[in-house]
Amino acid sequence: MTRATATLLLLAALLLAITLLPPREPEGPLIRTRLLMGTVVEIRIEDTESARYDAAVTAAFAEMAAIERRMSPHLPQSEISRIAAATGTVGLSADTAEVLQLAHDVAEASNGAFDATLGQLIRLWGFAEGEPRLPTEEEIAAALAGDGASRLMIADGRVAKVVAPLAIDLGGIAKGYAIDRAVSVLAAAGVRHASVNAGGDMRLLGDRSGRPWRVGIRHPRKSGDILATLQLAGKAVVTSGDYERVFELDGVRYHHILDPRTGYPARGCQAVTVVADRAALADAVATAVFVLGPGKGLALLESMPDLEGVIVAADGNVSVTPGLRGVLEWP
Ligand code: ADP
Ligand code: MG
Repeated sequence: MTRATATLLLLAALLLAITLLPPREPEGPLIRTRLLMGTVVEIRIEDTESARYDAAVTAAFAEMAAIERRMSPHLPQSEISRIAAATGTVGLSADTAEVLQLAHDVAEASNGAFDATLGQLIRLWGFAEGEPRLPTEEEIAAALAGDGASRLMIADGRVAKVVAPLAIDLGGIAKGYAIDRAVSVLAAAGVRHASVNAGGDMRLLGDRSGRPWRVGIRHPRKSGDILATLQLAGKAVVTSGDYERVFELDGVRYHHILDPRTGYPARGCQAVTVVADRAALADAVATAVFVLGPGKGLALLESMPDLEGVIVAADGNVSVTPGLRGVLEWP
């Protein structure tokens, strides 16, 4: 081999090596979705080299799935199903005890508008089963008579039914709690910029690597439209609306957020969005404010520290807590 040939070969090899190198592009976010708690959950990691958090995302989804297994009223082995079937005391996981305690606190703060002991009434309407129907007045009265927070005692990680029958339903709080736990798993793995979005209810971890996250609030009556946009970092944003699970009968809308005083869908609001540090609290308070209606609902938001919100009343009027004024953008 002549020297010239050797040089040429070397050059060719180098060229090949160069062309085989992948282009150096900044890596995009890691986005994964999974069906959990009856909705699509999206986890999005915005840290640089996001791909290295793939295992953390898997663990975050697993954490949410474990919470669903404990708190679903539809799985016969869940703690909630065991409470429904029990006559005496039931031992609880730390998770379920914590959620029941928070539910109890929000029930007190909202004068019973949020009530996790509406299991029988909620079953009767059938929204979660996907076959909603209008119950008779007698059925509603019977279900209400069997529900009520005063029939439940929680202490030392155990729950006791004072009077059976009683059923728990955590549909207004468990999703928020699961979102919080997913965020904790991600943070413990070192993630600093992420969002966990369960069907529009979400919590943000940090900012979107240097910029605020932009969270759109859906318009409750114009599907596909945005009512307003929030610019946020590190907060939970949860919405309760009358447009997700709803049926119409003789021109009347019936939806899945029930007023414990009447047993019928709450009539004061179209939608309530709550911003808080924790998604579990935001979730329960959004349901409570929806039931209370715009007047008392706004008062509840303003009475609790670090809670902000947007309320769309039944007549379409929008009210906003003062703390959101610099954060909200109207379209
Ligand atoms: P979504 O499930 O659409 O996020 P919410 O957080 O408002 O909506 O929760 C509604 C669910 O909460 C219902 O499907 C039911 O399981 C439960 N629920 C309905 N009414 C009440 C109430 N007054 N208090 C507590 N939970 C409720
Ligand atoms: Mg809720």
